[in-house]
Amino acid sequence: MSSGSDSDYAKYWIDWFLNTKGNEYFCEVDEDYILDRFNLTGLNAEVQHYYLEALDMITDNLDEDSLDEKVREQVEKAARHLYGLIHARFVITTRGLAKMLDKYKKAEFGRCPRVLCNLQPLLPVGLSDVPMTKTVKLYCPRCEDIYNPKSSRHASIDGAYFGTSVPHMLFQVHPSYLPTKNYERYVPRIFGFKVHEIAEQHRWQDQAREQFESKLKDEQS
Ligand SMILES: [Zn+2]
Repeated sequence: MSSGSDSDYAKYWIDWFLNTKGNEYFCEVDEDYILDRFNLTGLNAEVQHYYLEALDMITDNLDEDSLDEKVREQVEKAARHLYGLIHARFVITTRGLAKMLDKYKKAEFGRCPRVLCNLQPLLPVGLSDVPMTKTVKLYCPRCEDIYNPKSSRHASIDGAYFGTSVPHMLFQVHPSYLPTKNYERYVPRIFGFKVHEIAEQHRWQDQAREQFESKLKDEQS
């Protein structure tokens, strides 16, 4: 459960949600996007309990005082899930991509831990578009690999709230932000010698010793 609902009286539910610790990867979904029911087609099947109440909560139209605490908690859980599902659809729209680009430019998703990527900013990506299957990962457009988020709060976010396409669509729409690839690779060395060369040398030495030993045995017998 996220905390904060009692301590900070945010006026708007989305503001409260975005300011809750751990939700830093999410961007603000435009209200008119949420209010256009066409954009939410099919989501009532994903949020089976309290769908309408959750939608009212997200859009600040719910009279929360009329609900008892247990129901309110369930509605809030449904609201967070619904917001995630709407978010996944919103972030691949022109508006949504622009908002994700803003966050990417500020490196709000963190930077690639790979030394040779030179602190390249990352983008969130899902490994599945089906909710509750995989947690969110971070994609580095320089090394084209994915990483686990550093914080456990981020590491437990559903990857389907971002979807599998967002980084790739972002660079298709904004190709100038695609970093130049660098093909520099780390080469393992021991005292300056490449490890595979040393291994090769070791194998050759072992082989030579074995041959020498069996030759000795043959001569002695
Ligand atoms: Zn990288």
